[in-house]
Amino acid sequence: MKYTKSEQLFKEAEKYIPGGVNSPVRAFKSVGLAPIFADKAHGDRLIDVDGNEYIDYICSWGPLMLGHSPDFMSEGLEEMAKRGTSYGVATEIEIEVAKIIVDAYPAIDQVRMVNSGTEATMSALRVARGYTNRNKILKFEGCYHGHSDGLLVQSGSGTLTFGVPTSPGVPADVVKNTLVCRYNDMDDVRRVFEEQGDDIAAVIVETVSGNMGVVPGTQEFIQGLRDICTEYKTVLIFDEVITGFRLAYNSSIGYFGVEPDMVCFGKIIGAGMPVGAYGAKKEIMSCVSPVGPVYQAGTLSGNPLAMFLGKKNLETLRDHKDIYAELDRKGKMLQEGIQNNLKKLGLDYTVNRAGSLVCLFFTSGPVQNFDDATKSDIDKFNQYFKEMLDRGILIAPSQYEAMFLSYAHTDEDIEHTIKCNYEALKACHNL
Ligand code: PMP
Repeated sequence: MKYTKSEQLFKEAEKYIPGGVNSPVRAFKSVGLAPIFADKAHGDRLIDVDGNEYIDYICSWGPLMLGHSPDFMSEGLEEMAKRGTSYGVATEIEIEVAKIIVDAYPAIDQVRMVNSGTEATMSALRVARGYTNRNKILKFEGCYHGHSDGLLVQSGSGTLTFGVPTSPGVPADVVKNTLVCRYNDMDDVRRVFEEQGDDIAAVIVETVSGNMGVVPGTQEFIQGLRDICTEYKTVLIFDEVITGFRLAYNSSIGYFGVEPDMVCFGKIIGAGMPVGAYGAKKEIMSCVSPVGPVYQAGTLSGNPLAMFLGKKNLETLRDHKDIYAELDRKGKMLQEGIQNNLKKLGLDYTVNRAGSLVCLFFTSGPVQNFDDATKSDIDKFNQYFKEMLDRGILIAPSQYEAMFLSYAHTDEDIEHTIKCNYEALKACHNL
């Protein structure tokens, strides 16, 4: 593979954009390479500016449940844009999308649209604090909830990749109310609640963490969080930016059979457009301005073009729920294929999976929390990433991210990925 044009663009980009990218992990810096620049994408394929074609497992970091730009998605988009790209007054389509989300997620009565996952979690926490009149929040080591100040504490995703899980620039005063526990460890949570439970406004959790690799919450952990939050009248928030409409149509509620008090959604509900949302029962949402005193706003929130694509995406998922069984089958196929390769090569590594989220950790398992995940051999991962890229398989350039499968990933392409995985593992272990 040649990456000449991408390398040229990267040099140019570095002049005008910090690190040449508008989001850190796109830089490929952690794997010691210049990043690729996308030209176009369709289905499960992404083509870069040098004409290299990849089977794509980044898939915009999760939102593309149906793959890149399915043909029906863009139908009518031009018409829509001609009618206006943003009005600053309410539109009917915002109600339609809100209704689809509320109908899908039994724990909520109302939802407020925002523009990103970061905004969704930041706003949900403000509402939970306003509702409970408490200040503290509890998050988990290795979970990433966007880059708002109070949540950049022992975080995952790019913060972990670049070794800044607690970012400079965040005043100590801001994070003094952020408590952190070990993921999948109810004893740790109980200890913190016994000391400060009456001051904790909210617990925010990824039910399956996709930001320290893929680390599913255990049933006992998720149910335990539900029980302790009920006991202490703390708001339980599921951050479903990755898991929402992915683990099941009714998201983590379907997957775990546990309902939170609040939910945050992100990119998935806009099919890749800049969208997020948070929701809860009416009692909690009544705190939000203009009904209640908790202020939260957004000029572009509920943007008509984002709503147009989001509506099509969610309607398709709603009307074809067989997609979820298919995604699970594809995820299992990929997981088992990689596990077979590891066995054949005598490598003692771990493959975690929840539905269509898959992750190969370069460490023996089980991988159930941040400490386990960070035992992974990062040098090996970095070599593996390059071997896969050169074979036309695009995975996230970091150990601490998921492989995202979409409905568009064909069996043939998954089989080819498994074959490339075998060759790449062989190459980076000199076998
Ligand atoms: N929460 C979770 C669980 C995420 O994975 C992410 C980003 N991947 C966010 C929040 C932040 O979303 P955004 O990047 O849209 O701000």
